[in-house]
Amino acid sequence: MAEDIPYDKKFELIPGKVDEPMPGVRRILCNNPSPFTFKGTISYIVGRGKVAIIDPGPDDPAHNAALLDAVRGETVTHIFVTHTHRDHSPGVPAIKKATGAIVMAEGPHRPARALHVGDGPRLESSNDTDFKPDRALADGEGVRGDGWTVEAITTPGHTANHMAYAFHEAGIVFSGDHVMAWSTPVVSPPDGSMGDYMASLQKLAKRAEPTYFPGHGPAVRNAPRFVAAYILHRKAREAAIVNRLAKTGESDIPSLVAGIYVGLDPRLTKAAGMSVLAHLEELVARGAVATEGPASIAGRYRLAG
Ligand SMILES: [Zn+2]
Repeated sequence: MAEDIPYDKKFELIPGKVDEPMPGVRRILCNNPSPFTFKGTISYIVGRGKVAIIDPGPDDPAHNAALLDAVRGETVTHIFVTHTHRDHSPGVPAIKKATGAIVMAEGPHRPARALHVGDGPRLESSNDTDFKPDRALADGEGVRGDGWTVEAITTPGHTANHMAYAFHEAGIVFSGDHVMAWSTPVVSPPDGSMGDYMASLQKLAKRAEPTYFPGHGPAVRNAPRFVAAYILHRKAREAAIVNRLAKTGESDIPSLVAGIYVGLDPRLTKAAGMSVLAHLEELVARGAVATEGPASIAGRYRLAG
């Protein structure tokens, strides 16, 4: 089940070094590798002369300096943020202070649903709850810069406020953590929602851009086909959960993870549990799976009916 997506893990960027994968798009890798960030967060620079920065990254002085160095002699007019995880947005205040750019995003961090008593500690102590955009963008809104036009695309699921950005002149999408070539993202309730995530994939599946530049790892090539594979992958995982429950009867999340994620990096066990919870939440909402009270990490699950 792991190899149904045509992953691409070849990524040779050196942290702090500017790379120009296509005209009008520069990228800089932050030195924050982890099982969740792959080689690290990528900040993008759009345009030349009067530019936009997409995702300043974590609050990392070396990365901030590299980013400002890359735009020396240019004017940063806009900062766009894909979502409020701590590896993407805490660098905003330093870059805004140095450049005076206007900060645009969908909105501040918020959970995807009301919190339950059964919610465990939030997965990545990774939410940047300090972030506030200067201006909140609506779905489909276009922002014109000097030689570039960026279209905001709401893509909730990984976080409720996740936004991808299409760069019209280049025919590409900056996909944040929503679609990445090296891995699927973590969808972790209550900040993430599997129902929203699938709807956001269906939304991108209708778009024609062939190339996506994500927040981590190499570009996504043949993006429409890649997104279709992502959708099938999540549907297959949901089917695996349902099959497992059909076979074992009532079960809990640790047993489901052990049965479904064969050969998993042990550092990702908790994240896998949260992804299974995200699927179960969706299955409970659809009436396919039953549990006691709201779906929770400690709950027991069985097929409904
Ligand atoms: Zn993220």
